[in-house]
Amino acid sequence: MTTARTDIRQRYGLRPIINVSGTMTTLGASIVVPEAVAAASAILPEFVEINDLHRVASRVVARLTGGEAGFITASCAAGITVAVAATMTGADLARIEQLPDTTGMKNEVAIQPGHIVNYGAPIDQAIRLAGAKVALVGTATDARAYQLEAKLNANTAAALYVVSHHCVDYGQIPLSEFVAICKRKGVPVIVDAASEYDLRGFLAAGADLAVYSAHKFLGGATAGIIAGRKDLVRASFLQNYGIGRGLKVGKESIVGAIAALEAWEKRDHAAVRARENGYLALWQKRFAGLPGIGAEIVPDPTDNPLSRLKLSVDPDRARTTAWHLADALASGDPPVIVRDHEVEHGFFFMDPCNLHPGEEHTVAARVVEECEKALKRNAVPEGTPLERRARRFQRMLAWPD
Ligand SMILES: *Cc1c(COP(=O)(O)O)cnc(C)c1O
Repeated sequence: MTTARTDIRQRYGLRPIINVSGTMTTLGASIVVPEAVAAASAILPEFVEINDLHRVASRVVARLTGGEAGFITASCAAGITVAVAATMTGADLARIEQLPDTTGMKNEVAIQPGHIVNYGAPIDQAIRLAGAKVALVGTATDARAYQLEAKLNANTAAALYVVSHHCVDYGQIPLSEFVAICKRKGVPVIVDAASEYDLRGFLAAGADLAVYSAHKFLGGATAGIIAGRKDLVRASFLQNYGIGRGLKVGKESIVGAIAALEAWEKRDHAAVRARENGYLALWQKRFAGLPGIGAEIVPDPTDNPLSRLKLSVDPDRARTTAWHLADALASGDPPVIVRDHEVEHGFFFMDPCNLHPGEEHTVAARVVEECEKALKRNAVPEGTPLERRARRFQRMLAWPD
């Protein structure tokens, strides 16, 4: 099913994985849309006045987000760092060069502990990287307006609000209330909306800046997008002359983001959704008769317009576990990588957003094949999800071996 494309992975001996996990940095993010591929390859051999290219990007970001301006940086994680820096320095180049030493600047960033996510690295580090200090509001499962009010003081540079399925999904301050309190206290709100399809809603809700990944749902080259208030976007851009240098983005990623945004504007979103729902329906139908396997179509937890298949495994009847099934799929031919961060609960998800045409059938066949193998073997394999987690961790630490 990968034969139609020339596969560069072969040249380097890399496995031709099929991604039903989602847009994961560890798997190469997303299928970059053809428009962004073409734009990146067209600009790579050319020179360009990079700040003019940034000006063009700013206009496109503004048009799509409703913000006053926009700035492209290395990633959403970089965008958080740069946006935090912007709230501390403004457009003052002496301050920009002084970072991460924040002497003489406001340097606290308020955030709810339930929003301290890990997207491959801890988000509080993205704040601290700018030299700022994290000011926690409430506890992981209970944060309230009065706690936010009490945290905002003369040293507060910004407040960060994270929208993500990784966040604790109860007991948090809703964005509208968070914004209202910060506005009253004159504190800018940065929204981490890395994976959120809604390009306008967070700014419309009163956020001063919203930060997105260009390489997730948008299908751009690797980059981050900061949108919102012009003074803060300008101050974000000016970090290029300071700590933003190490987070810099090249011409190919800037045009890649521009092209991906323009393609997003024109995309037939209903047709994409229908195709993805078709995959889910196909999988649900194929798995329906498998003993001990549950297949439920579930909506995205942060209301992005997409659904996933939740595949639950009853070991007594399926004769395998969710984590052994995930491993069997990942080590098969071709390798199929599922969304398994909650696998210890006995289920994983299958995300339909990153498939090339035809791969949905391969995925279905592989799941059925592994389930049938397990039934035939008729002995639930040994090994706990904790052991599996530790094994993967050791493998990461052993890099490059
Ligand atoms: C993916 C993600 C990030 C990091 O995005 P990058 O662009 O890959 O740096 C930050 N925050 C959240 C909530 C994410 O999901």
